[in-house]
Amino acid sequence: MPYNLTMTKDYFKKGSFPTDPLTGVYTREVIVDYINHLVSNNIPFSMALVDIDNFKRVNDTYGHIAGDKIIASVAKKLKDVSKNFGVVARFGGDEFILVYEGIVEYDELWNLCHKEINKVNGYISPEFDGLYITITQGLSRFPLDAKNYTHLLETADKALYRGKTKGRNCFVIYLEEKHKNLVLKPQEKSFMNSMYMHSSIFRFLSVNAGLKKGIDDLFKFFNSFLMIDHICLQDEKNIIIEKIHPLSRTQNFKYVPTKLLAYTMNPASEIGSVNDIAELQEINQDTLFDILKNQKVISGCYSKVTYKEKQYGTLRAEMTTSKRIWQYSDMDLLLTASKTIALILHYEDKTLADLKK
Ligand code: GH3
Ligand code: MG
Repeated sequence: MPYNLTMTKDYFKKGSFPTDPLTGVYTREVIVDYINHLVSNNIPFSMALVDIDNFKRVNDTYGHIAGDKIIASVAKKLKDVSKNFGVVARFGGDEFILVYEGIVEYDELWNLCHKEINKVNGYISPEFDGLYITITQGLSRFPLDAKNYTHLLETADKALYRGKTKGRNCFVIYLEEKHKNLVLKPQEKSFMNSMYMHSSIFRFLSVNAGLKKGIDDLFKFFNSFLMIDHICLQDEKNIIIEKIHPLSRTQNFKYVPTKLLAYTMNPASEIGSVNDIAELQEINQDTLFDILKNQKVISGCYSKVTYKEKQYGTLRAEMTTSKRIWQYSDMDLLLTASKTIALILHYEDKTLADLKK
């Protein structure tokens, strides 16, 4: 079937667009801009939200590094199967967004999902012997179901939710008469994620191989789950352990004076964030602004590693590629990690510097 991707080709020919480091597909921001572009030009299209089924179980069984590989391999499959009719982006976590320009007729869309996108289901590779991955898709159409991106997302999400409650491994095209009144249960979902993430932190930090190994692995986990460019622990003088994302704009981070970082924090919670370091100039923290700017940091979240009265150091989580609106859920995890590390250091009677030996 000949697909008309005129607008898509024109749009993506114009420049290079950021891609998600793990999967190599476009980032959410890129596809949202593109959707807005289609909407403002009144070009009909469908949008699919694709979510891997039972992915938490996959992580639990095979570990998160394997989980990462599997997300990347699903992304590749999605890109391959849709290359003649769509554009793929990573929405976040185990979710993807696809956009199909000009395909809005119900039967045509149905056939496309059935024949093409369903090819993504299957065995991953001999490396994960017997692991069969399935996806669920929720679809919504412009302009039929929604007139803008936000509403498209809402309707596609309802369709996806319907697909999940129907038993997964299926696709659902949004139909107002059937799905309009569906109520999603976001709290339940985010609660599950939060439980999973917190228990992962404890699991990493309690490995038999010791705290250093635990922190190394935890940082890798944060890098990929939270998509953080740089994460490190520093004591009063030096960076002790760090993990830098390969796509970070710099690989060269330096110690930042602890007392300056404290200005970003809420004294009661001992954690704080700066979505955009330009905010530091507004509160007259020019020295900290300069130090971070020199390290190409755009946005950061900082947490004290303390137990009782003792401060062992500071946990820094930073972005060099884009501004980040730090969420309470991100801070929650960083706080749990830094307090747990302090607690272990206390009971093992160690300092951070001991971890370097
Ligand atoms: P469902 O069928 O309802 O989708 O179940 P699910 O287990 O896949 O649940 P959900 O989609 O809500 O959660 C996705 C999980 O994917 C949450 C998190 O544990 C995991 N995850 C998110 N991002 C990453 C990542 O970058 N790497 C890995 N390995 N796992 C991730
Ligand atoms: Mg999932």
